[in-house]
Formats: sequence, C-alpha cells, structure tokens
Amino acid sequence: MARVYNFSAGPAVLPEEVLSRAGSEILDYQGSGMSVMEMSHRSKVFQGIIDKAEADIRTLMGIPENYKVLFLQGGDSLLFATTFINLAPHRKADFVITGNWAKKAYQEAQILGDPNVVASSADKNFTYIPDCSDLPIREDTDYLYICQNNTIYGTQYHTLPNTKGHTLVSDQSSMFLSEPVDVTKFGCIHAGVQKNVGPAGVQIVIVREDLIPDDLPGVPTMLRFKTQADKGSLYNTPNCWGIYMCGLVFQWLLENGGLAAMHEKNAEKAKILYDYLDASELFHPTVADTQSRSLMNVPFVTGDKDLDAEFVAQAAEAGLVNLKGHRTVGGMRASIYNAMPKAGVEALVNFMDGFERSHKKA
Ligand SMILES: *Cc1c(COP(=O)(O)O)cnc(C)c1O
Repeated sequence: MARVYNFSAGPAVLPEEVLSRAGSEILDYQGSGMSVMEMSHRSKVFQGIIDKAEADIRTLMGIPENYKVLFLQGGDSLLFATTFINLAPHRKADFVITGNWAKKAYQEAQILGDPNVVASSADKNFTYIPDCSDLPIREDTDYLYICQNNTIYGTQYHTLPNTKGHTLVSDQSSMFLSEPVDVTKFGCIHAGVQKNVGPAGVQIVIVREDLIPDDLPGVPTMLRFKTQADKGSLYNTPNCWGIYMCGLVFQWLLENGGLAAMHEKNAEKAKILYDYLDASELFHPTVADTQSRSLMNVPFVTGDKDLDAEFVAQAAEAGLVNLKGHRTVGGMRASIYNAMPKAGVEALVNFMDGFERSHKKA
C-alpha cells in the first residue's frame, strides 16, 4: 500500500489514524455485529455515536448551551439558501464578497429577498480580505454574511468584521476546526465537512437558538432549521456513516490537543510553504497581502501555464497529488488541512525547490 500526499481542496485528506480505526470497525462496530453503514439511525448504538459526536464538537469549539449543533445534508451550497430562509425574517442580509462561495451565497439570497453587498475584493481578483472595520451595513439588515476562508483564492479573515451590533453568519467550510473560535461572536456558523473534517455528505450548522424561527409559513419542512433542531438531527435518515467519521475526527482532534494545538501546527505548516514561496524566484503566491493569507489553501503560480502543467504532472509522479489550481486562479493550489502532516508540506517544498533548481535559467 502506498499513500500519497493529497493536497486536494475537497474532498480532502483525512487523518490516517481515523481511516485505520474506521477500517478496523467496518465489519463489526464495537460488538454490534454490523457496520455503521448498515445500522438503523433509530438504534441505540447510532444514538450513542451521534450523541458523542455532538458532545465532542461542543468540547472542541466550546459551544455554549444556547447554540444548537445540526448535522445536515444537501451540501453547503444548500445552506446558502437555508441560512437566508431561516435567519433573515425581513429578507435582508448584507454580504462581503471575497470569492465564488460568498458570491454564490449572495446570489441565492437574491432569489429569495433583498441582499446587499457591503464590501468586495473583486477588484483584485479576490486576492485580499477587504477592510471590514466600518462597513456600510444597513441598519435594518438581518445579518452580515462572510465566507471566512476562501478555498479557491486562498484568503482568510484573521480578524472578524465589525458587525455594528448585527448578527454574524459565517461559512467556515474550508477552515472548520482548524483553529480556536469564539462561537459567541456568531449567530450561525456553517460548514461542509468534506474540506477539513470528514467525508462529503454532511454539513454542520452551529446556530444560536433564539435565531431559529418557530414558524416559517410557506417553507418546506426540510428547509427549516427547527425541524432538525427539535429532533437532534434525526427527523429523517441522516448520513450515519458521515456523522460517525466526523465523530472519529473530533476524537482525533481532542486526542491531539484540540483546536489550539491544531492552529499551532497549521500555522507552522503554512509558514514553511509561504516562506519558501516568498523567497522563490520561480513560484509566486497569488495572495501577496500577508495579512489575508489562508492557513489552509495556498495558491501559487509560475506565470507560465506550460510550466505549471509540467510541475503538476511531475509532482503527481512523485506522490504529491491534486496540486492543480482552481480554473479561476490557474497555476497550483496546495490545501494543507488539519490532516496534512508537516512532513507532507516539507516534501512539497523540497520537490518545488528541486524543480526550481532544474529550471534555473542559464
Ligand atoms: C466547497 C465549499 C462550499 C460548497 O460546498 P458543497 O458541499 O459542495 O455545496 C461552500 N463554501 C465553501 C467555503 C467551500 O469551500
């Protein structure tokens, strides 16, 4: 068996210990005689799995009791609509546009009501996080929406916007559980787990209870947060296997020092890569603004498309895979999520250094 270093933006690398444990339990989950995949979601065994997953994520993030934790399906893209449906009673929300995912959330809100753009970094192809200290937020807006880590463009908020007293809603998909977070600063955090936490097919929503509406006339049952909030995410059949895998990752995070320790490791990994990129004569980071750089997704280019393609192909042969950049940015992108070991980043930098030497202009 040969494992590669997988730099995919998502679905992405998972901790080897977690995969091994899931493998060892695949035929017989803890004496139940069956796999979690074969189990009724109404069984005691599965109730234990989802209860432990929720308890562990509450511990990891320090989630206060007045917040609900929901395990949902439909893709994080569905949450672009459902956050607005549930959290914007006046059909007004203000958006900071920092890339494709924030734009898509804004576009969903356009279908449903009256969203407003209060800042954008489109002028420089989303290579920075705009100044959010004094945004023209509408007084009667229901919330301010941000995408906290921009998976495609490789930018990340390192300070939260001044919301001027308004509720903050954040898409944390590609940075979820990568660093400590003060949940009380948010009305709602949502994330698709396939970036930094688990297999595709589960979204986690952390939402302050008082924001969940009791009554939403005209809105189908499955689009109301209250439906799953009242039923512990078991109103209908959830993604049992995905929730189990997330639970194993939560345990792995707790065993490895929690989110503060993870942040330290992530900062160290990112520094290795950015330091190399800043010094390199061949490779250049697309995010020059050091204050806006993501610790999770690092896009870079040589400026020569053919050379980029040659690099991506040679890297893959060396076991460094999925480094091709997103089509809107081009070049390369290394996603270095929680489960990417430091050795993987070092291997990448060594490989880039060798490639650079062999392409030095004479
Ligand atoms: C990947 C991604 C999404 C979309 O997730 P789906 O589950 O594919 O709908 C949304 N937001 C961010 C920040 C992402 O990285």
